[in-house]
Amino acid sequence: MDYIVFDLEWNQCPYGKEQENERLPFEIIEIGAIKLNEQKERIDEFHQIIHPVVYRKIHFRTREIIGVDMAELDKGEYFQQAVCNFLRWCGDDYAFCTWGTLDVMELQRNLKYYGLLAFIQGPVYYYDVQKLFAVQYETRHERRSLEYAVDYLGLEKAGEFHLALEDARYTAMVLQTIQDDCIHGNCSIDCYQNPKLKEDEIHILYEDYEKYVSREFNTKEEAMHDREVTSMHCVLCRKNAKRKLKWFSNNAKLHFAVAYCPRHGYLKGKIRIKKTEDDKFFAIKTVKLISEEEALFIRDKQSAIRRKRQRKRHEKM
Ligand SMILES: [Zn+2]
Repeated sequence: MDYIVFDLEWNQCPYGKEQENERLPFEIIEIGAIKLNEQKERIDEFHQIIHPVVYRKIHFRTREIIGVDMAELDKGEYFQQAVCNFLRWCGDDYAFCTWGTLDVMELQRNLKYYGLLAFIQGPVYYYDVQKLFAVQYETRHERRSLEYAVDYLGLEKAGEFHLALEDARYTAMVLQTIQDDCIHGNCSIDCYQNPKLKEDEIHILYEDYEKYVSREFNTKEEAMHDREVTSMHCVLCRKNAKRKLKWFSNNAKLHFAVAYCPRHGYLKGKIRIKKTEDDKFFAIKTVKLISEEEALFIRDKQSAIRRKRQRKRHEKM
């Protein structure tokens, strides 16, 4: 399997959000990619400038960051052709790698705009090198800039940042320093093409936590009443864990719960409800082992929310 490390540059509506095309807020104008083989040796590169169709003027931010002009972009290929060239170049056995989570999603949104989403099967499993860098060198939740990582690792700075091919090169260089175990134990899922049916649902077991992506529901409430969505299993022995704290939320999107496995201790559940472009809902649940202190902390958080709600209700009366 090859690693396709890619980076996109995009333009946005030059006249502000009010006038943007809702189906394509960010129009891809450049694709840069590096192909690494299974040993993470560099074997090829790809670069394509894209002729913009939706936004015919460059947003000042885009110009500031990447410094291209329309005349230059107009020499490029149309997106449909460019993306065909790119995906053909990727080959048939590869995994996408990007710096951060945005590029995989934007690539699909641009494909969808042109009716080409079937070119990439979703949900897309990929490697977020920004996250891998955090896991290997810092702490899991840290997110750094690409330039920070390049400096941290003392890698040679040959080209400018924020050009698609240069950023892909730097990202590939960072990926080359990450251990295979770390890469393969921390794959990411992009749910722009979310699971639709029960049989498409995703369960992934990582080293110390579990991730689940549900099928679609018509409402948030329906999702939060589903047994599979709200169940909690121990991440180590997979046994049903006894609920210590029912699911609660401080807003409609994020829910928390605590459960207990007699052998392995406390577990924290977190459910994030996501809305699709078609106004349906799906849930992303993570379950992980936590200490007793963390469990108590979550309990206190719940009590505080409850007290606040009671106070509000009281004030209304
Ligand atoms: Zn257990």
